[in-house]
Amino acid sequence: AQERIFNFSAGPAVLPVPVLERIRDEMLCLPGAGASIMEISHRSKQFIAIHEQAKARLARLLNVGADHEILFLQGGARLQFSMIPMNLLQGREQPAQYILTGSWGKSALPEAQKVGPVEVLFDGKETNYDRLPDISKLAIKPDASYVHITSNETIQGVQFPADLDTGTAPLVCDSSSDFLYRPYNMDRYGLLYACAQKNAGPAGVTVVILKKELLERSSAELPGYLNYANQAAADSMWNTPPTFAVYVLGLVTEWLEDTVGGLEKMHALNQSKAKVLYDILDQNPELYMGHARKQDRSLMNVTFRFPSEEIEKQFLAGASAAGLENLKGHRSVGGIRASIYNAMPSEGVQALASFMTEFAQKHG
Ligand code: PMP
Repeated sequence: AQERIFNFSAGPAVLPVPVLERIRDEMLCLPGAGASIMEISHRSKQFIAIHEQAKARLARLLNVGADHEILFLQGGARLQFSMIPMNLLQGREQPAQYILTGSWGKSALPEAQKVGPVEVLFDGKETNYDRLPDISKLAIKPDASYVHITSNETIQGVQFPADLDTGTAPLVCDSSSDFLYRPYNMDRYGLLYACAQKNAGPAGVTVVILKKELLERSSAELPGYLNYANQAAADSMWNTPPTFAVYVLGLVTEWLEDTVGGLEKMHALNQSKAKVLYDILDQNPELYMGHARKQDRSLMNVTFRFPSEEIEKQFLAGASAAGLENLKGHRSVGGIRASIYNAMPSEGVQALASFMTEFAQKHG
């Protein structure tokens, strides 16, 4: 069989090998079901148990209490760009306030503008989205319908390192590319959402965790699928849920709890993995030109450019020959993006670091 690469893809992205092995082992016959996960009813006791376990593990990992509801939805993070304003902004006079620190926040904005009043509190465009704003200087309205941030901008590699405090305005956070990378203070979040295909599983399921009090805003006029209150009342089974994706999400949360040992440990691992790469950037600033401002660097997506496209080509070819793949950055930023999500093993980061150090010796 072909050997596995070190996969630095931004998403869909690397999954923990023990999770893949478990999927393989249970593919033909899920324990107790006599059939695969894809062949049984979402109303079966086996699937209900998987669904409940996934929710329970997420709740334990993130310390989600009785104030919040956990939903498993489809349509990706992009459908949430629309569902959030449809449920939380439609028909209201108080604006939603958006903080734009990169491409994904910028994509969320026009979907909200279609629905209700929106204000932009910060737009990092001037510096090509290389930094975070000073939150204390932003005009957050205490009665804003909500404040929207993207905790990790996948393309630019800019990340909020801690939970923001938006006071009485509900904080809505797109955590698609850093979900579960550290512990969270869920009290701070009105709504936290993440597509699964970076840090939590395969494409097909999107986790939405929202304060129950916000469910009162969902108008009965909304289409059924798009109505959070309806989804909560049906425990995310108003229609057939993405059963395979929920199953894998459950296995990833199990890996986080039982193998990694929780989100404190995951955070420490993520910090040490990212430090290895950023140290090399800092030691070779003329060759590896980091995109994000130092204090705003992402632990998940490490972005940098070279002085010339020729050097970039050589870097990518050499990396590929060393089994380091999917490192090409997004076209809007250029250069390299090394995505080092939870499931990227330290060995993968070490292998990239060794390659980068050697490459710097040749080209420095
Ligand atoms: N937000 C962020 C931060 C993302 O990284 C992505 C996916 N690259 C999205 C939203 C869009 O997710 P989806 O493709 O699942 O709609």
